[in-house]
Amino acid sequence: MNQAALAPVNLPENACHIPPVHVSEDRVIRSVVGLRPHRPSGFRIEREQVGDTVVVHNYGHGGGGITLSWGTAKLATDLGLQGHTGPVAVLGCGVIGLTTARMVQDAGFPVTIYTKAMPPDTTSNIAGGQWYPAMVYDDADKVTASFTDQFLAAAKFAYERYQIMTDPRYGVRWMRNYSISRTPFQPNRGSDRPRIVSGLDPLLPERHLLRQEENPFRIGYASQYDGMIMEPPLLLNALITDFRIAGGKVVGRELKSPAEVQSLKEKLVFNCTGLGAKALFDDKEMIPVRGQLTFLLPQPEVTYAALFEDIYMFSRRDGILLGGTHQAGNWSLEVDQATVKEKLAAHAELFRSMKPC
Ligand SMILES: Cc1cc2nc3c(=O)[nH]c(=O)nc-3n(C[C@H](O)[C@H](O)[C@H](O)COP(=O)(O)OP(=O)(O)OC[C@H]3O[C@@H](n4cnc5c(N)ncnc54)[C@H](O)[C@@H]3O)c2cc1C
Repeated sequence: MNQAALAPVNLPENACHIPPVHVSEDRVIRSVVGLRPHRPSGFRIEREQVGDTVVVHNYGHGGGGITLSWGTAKLATDLGLQGHTGPVAVLGCGVIGLTTARMVQDAGFPVTIYTKAMPPDTTSNIAGGQWYPAMVYDDADKVTASFTDQFLAAAKFAYERYQIMTDPRYGVRWMRNYSISRTPFQPNRGSDRPRIVSGLDPLLPERHLLRQEENPFRIGYASQYDGMIMEPPLLLNALITDFRIAGGKVVGRELKSPAEVQSLKEKLVFNCTGLGAKALFDDKEMIPVRGQLTFLLPQPEVTYAALFEDIYMFSRRDGILLGGTHQAGNWSLEVDQATVKEKLAAHAELFRSMKPC
């Protein structure tokens, strides 16, 4: 971003540019909780021989699974399909399982999905759905160079794939993101390594700092970039429909052990079980990062996203989504009412600070 534009300029504040979100308790329509399938060293794309079965792992996407799905599906299928003949199994029916299954079908193989739960009862349905690979690893300084290659390749592939899905049926559209900060933005803030930052930069078009008179909020500093939102309930329904039209079968079944996986008739299996991979393949790294979201009545005139400190708002067709909870190691799926109140208050304060229309 252009640092020269960081210093606020002394121009009169003008009227609002974008409509405000109306935040109040009586506009709440639901609150939901999901557990992000987090792996501190990043997602796992790896081929493993389990007896006479090839298992290709594709799990552990943390807070960026909707974003990266098509990209890690491409990496996983490139790893698994070469030289394979015969039917293929996919474990899991979240966004990772469905995109992997669709790519296997596109390559011409018959696919069966074996899954413990179907949408809407997956973590993928809970996701906010903003296109950004957030919270996918703990510390960029500690991830390996080969993971960084996979991460950037997956991000780029998925970014381009979603662009050809910008259609109401998939719930995918372009969305402007405003980041707001009380303090000046620091270049490379956080622990993201320069290679990751510069690799993602071309995927954040029109990213720039806003001048004071362009800032929609009466809070110090703002930047914007254009991105996409993929509304998970619509996306997952459309993917299941596409999967079935292409001849795919879904079997309701929880796999309990690698031996059970090996007993499937398919000798190539993609493991897309998200947090379920912790127990199924004894991955001790996997931890839940709990997230809670509250939805307000839809406001069709609000088409943007706003990110401020530890809270965020995405505008979706099924409501105004208010988020900002990240609790590592917390397995609770219960809605916490104190958090609902706390996030409502923080968002109300943010939108009260918008320049009035
Ligand atoms: C509050 C919140 C907000 C988020 N916001 C975003 C966002 O804005 N953008 C973004 O990109 N990502 C976001 N995410 C992250 C995203 O939801 C996840 O990264 C993604 O859904 C992971 O997909 P998955 O398919 O791996 O997991 P899941 O959706 O959990 O699917 C796993 C599947 O495997 C099945 N399964 C599990 N164990 C077994 C087993 N033993 N046998 C058979 N089947 C099994 C499950 O039933 C399920 O069908 C958010 C997550 C949360 C919780």
